[in-house]
Amino acid sequence: MDFALDEHLLALRAEAEEFAVGAVARYGRHNDGWLCGYSRELSRDLAARGWIGLTWPEEFGGGGRPPIERLVLAEVLITAGLPLAASWFVDRQMGPAIIAYGTGQQQRDLLPPMLAGEATWCIGMSEPDSGSDLASLQTRAVRDGDDWVITGRKIWTSFAHKADWCYLICRTDAVPGKPHLGISEIVVPMDAPGVEVSPVIDLTGDRHFNEIVFDDVRVPVGNLVGEEGNAFAQTMRQLEHERGGIDRLVSNRALYLHAREHADVSDPLVRQEIAAIESGYRIGRILVTRGVLGQAPPGFSAATKCVCTEFEQRVADFAARVLGPAVMVHDEWSAEVHYAPAYTIMGGTSDVMRNIIAERTLGLPR
Ligand SMILES: Cc1cc2nc3c(=O)[nH]c(=O)nc-3n(C[C@H](O)[C@H](O)[C@H](O)COP(=O)(O)OP(=O)(O)OC[C@H]3O[C@@H](n4cnc5c(N)ncnc54)[C@H](O)[C@@H]3O)c2cc1C
Repeated sequence: MDFALDEHLLALRAEAEEFAVGAVARYGRHNDGWLCGYSRELSRDLAARGWIGLTWPEEFGGGGRPPIERLVLAEVLITAGLPLAASWFVDRQMGPAIIAYGTGQQQRDLLPPMLAGEATWCIGMSEPDSGSDLASLQTRAVRDGDDWVITGRKIWTSFAHKADWCYLICRTDAVPGKPHLGISEIVVPMDAPGVEVSPVIDLTGDRHFNEIVFDDVRVPVGNLVGEEGNAFAQTMRQLEHERGGIDRLVSNRALYLHAREHADVSDPLVRQEIAAIESGYRIGRILVTRGVLGQAPPGFSAATKCVCTEFEQRVADFAARVLGPAVMVHDEWSAEVHYAPAYTIMGGTSDVMRNIIAERTLGLPR
């Protein structure tokens, strides 16, 4: 099989590389930029090039381009360390969710600001007592006239403090013995009265994620996305977008390239490790490509996430050993090394991914 890019994709990659050089000069280089780096100005720049919603259908204002183009583009932009988080969740997840499940009105209202790089979103799934077992979530929305009234608490919400909207997963009904039923998705403006955001500082000292408290927050009933009480499948579809993409492989590619420059390649063990990392990168890329081309079996994004994020941790481990004490204490690359444990937690832990592979892909007994 030939994995080389054709001329058109090579040209796109070259264009992205040239853009990235200028954009890093303007917006800075960020560790794990798709998740931890935030710039609305960059979003507008990307939007002007049609690089937000590149693969969304044209009738919704997207570029209608094949998903392989997004992969090529994102690989370059993330590797460069661009602060993409202001548009990344929108492009990867929220836009496709509104296109798939939103009403015509929601599509008309919500998609254009996303495509223009103007609206930024956060994902309100996890709660203090509900992470892997999402169906146990407690945040409630109760119908009151023409409104939903929302009460509850979300945590680890990336960029909630800067987002305009929260894509909220909540409970609108409780069906005894059937926790997957009664779950709904509601879009909530972050400036609605009763929404309170508090920072959660991570171990690198960064504050990209937050706790959100919803205290009798009112939103119109028209903010419900998809089926009332039956949105668990919608959420699982979104998680497929979240787990199988190139962002799970290239988060710390820049760290690796930096470490490789400083590695003692006269040592055969170091050379062996570099070879293992280079092979691992290519294997991960094949898994991502398979998903992107629609050639993977259902649930395969769990395998991709597992392989790719464990690979990223191996990269961080290699970089820590090569770069030595300086990187463990504090330099430009420290945060990226210390951040590595997060890769196999966010978006679903490796344990949970292995359960999905065992049960859904391999059909093993529970
Ligand atoms: C950097 C970062 C950014 C994040 N951003 C967001 C965000 O924007 N929005 C959002 O909603 N969430 C976000 N999260 C939260 C993330 O999705 C959760 O942390 C993750 O789903 C795990 O949930 P938990 O932390 O509650 O751990 P738990 O579910 O409590 O798991 C604890 C441990 O138990 C294990 N475990 C749990 N269930 C099983 C099982 N059935 N079988 C085997 N082992 C199991 C897990 O593997 C883990 O080791 C973010 C997390 C991180 C680290």
